[in-house]
Amino acid sequence: MSYYRHTKIIATLGPATESKEMLAQLITAGVDILRLNMAHASHQWVDDAMWFIREASDEVGRHVGVMMDVKGPEIRTGRVEKDIIVNTGDHFEIHIEAAEPTGDVAAVSVNYPGLPADLNIGDTVLIDSGLIRMKVIDRDHQRVRLEVLTPGSIGSKRHINLPGVFVKLPCLTEKDEADLRAGVKAGIDFVALSFVRQGSDIKQLRSFLDELGSQAKIIAKIEDQAGVRNMQEIIAEADGIMVARGDLGIEIDYHRLPLVQTEMIAACRDAGKPVIVATHLLETMISSPMPTRAEISDVSNAIREQADAVMLSGETTIGKYPLESVQVMKNIIESIEPSVDGEINQNLQLHEPKPKMLRSAARLAQSLGDSAIIVFTRSGFLAYTLGALRPRGVPIFAFTDIDSLFRQLLLPWGVEPFHMEFSEDPEETIQNALSLLCERGWLKPGTTSVVITNVLARGVIIDSLQLRQVP
Ligand code: PEP
Repeated sequence: MSYYRHTKIIATLGPATESKEMLAQLITAGVDILRLNMAHASHQWVDDAMWFIREASDEVGRHVGVMMDVKGPEIRTGRVEKDIIVNTGDHFEIHIEAAEPTGDVAAVSVNYPGLPADLNIGDTVLIDSGLIRMKVIDRDHQRVRLEVLTPGSIGSKRHINLPGVFVKLPCLTEKDEADLRAGVKAGIDFVALSFVRQGSDIKQLRSFLDELGSQAKIIAKIEDQAGVRNMQEIIAEADGIMVARGDLGIEIDYHRLPLVQTEMIAACRDAGKPVIVATHLLETMISSPMPTRAEISDVSNAIREQADAVMLSGETTIGKYPLESVQVMKNIIESIEPSVDGEINQNLQLHEPKPKMLRSAARLAQSLGDSAIIVFTRSGFLAYTLGALRPRGVPIFAFTDIDSLFRQLLLPWGVEPFHMEFSEDPEETIQNALSLLCERGWLKPGTTSVVITNVLARGVIIDSLQLRQVP
């Protein structure tokens, strides 16, 4: 078999890419999942985007998953008439919307009324995605008095980060709930929840999705110190993790970011959950047709660490070179993947006999060479687990008869999903799968594949691992 890409590509949709023509080109270029960022989107935009995505997919004959990214407990400054310039040593005030500013120093309101109560004297407050640094010097229940440590200019609706502060905002805001209702109606496949701080945040989102009758998979965005601290319980509850390096690089010491990324990717792989590396991978491609050498190394690093997916944000929302960015990702993946360690993941704990069989299947396919694994799944578990085993060089062809699961199988490393009706007779299902793979050029005649399937033995269904040669 010729080269097969294991690492998935996620692109965020925005003005640069939201037309049907651009979507068709992005999908053809190899994007696996499209992200709708609800920080800047209306419900009408979600409906339109969804319609265009599905139409473009049908036209080009390739499908993509859709991930709605809801903002969670995000804190922002209010509107200002004109930008406020702050200098080192200045005093500054943040007040809740219900209170007037004291009036003796420059001030801005905040959208979170609990902010003064969550802060202590000495805490750091970062405004505008970490650019402006201030220290809390006083507070009451309505206002916070700060000393400016790093100067800058404060515009309207700037992002506030509070490194190390456990913010008591609910994990799902009213806006998130409204966004999710619209997303579920439109047919999203994944929900990414921002600022996940503990496992119970995911439980709460899952019960909300259950109420809406949605089977969407949940991706927990880890982007603050509480999320890093509680990584294991969050991984256990979520269906996947995003290393959201934009905020994470502000909320933790920036020089520890690579260590946290490495730790999170390994923890996810070992728990059998997909992990996405996000933000600033090809940032300069927003305005330049070529990435920097450092960006090439950063993407390579994510591939060597065996993340399931790499994500584009500004590059495809507002960038001048969205298609080129996808192509650059693909080129780097194609160059680096063959050099990555092909060891099957030994740390993934498999408890039941059938999942244990997956490790044997992965080893067998690798030792056959030029082979593939074919699996039939209705919950996705077998395909997600096979991906987590990281059998480099072996495509994982996952067949399902469930439409929503089909697109959710686009996320895990190495999995190529197919939507196909299953027959009552397992043998007929296998033959149909082999024919489809041959017809679409995924398998060459004569290739020996490892098939994980059920067989009927004297009326009893048994699990089996078979070698099948394509006729
Ligand atoms: C991030 O912070 O890295 C991230 C992906 O989140 P957002 O783009 O929503 O800020």
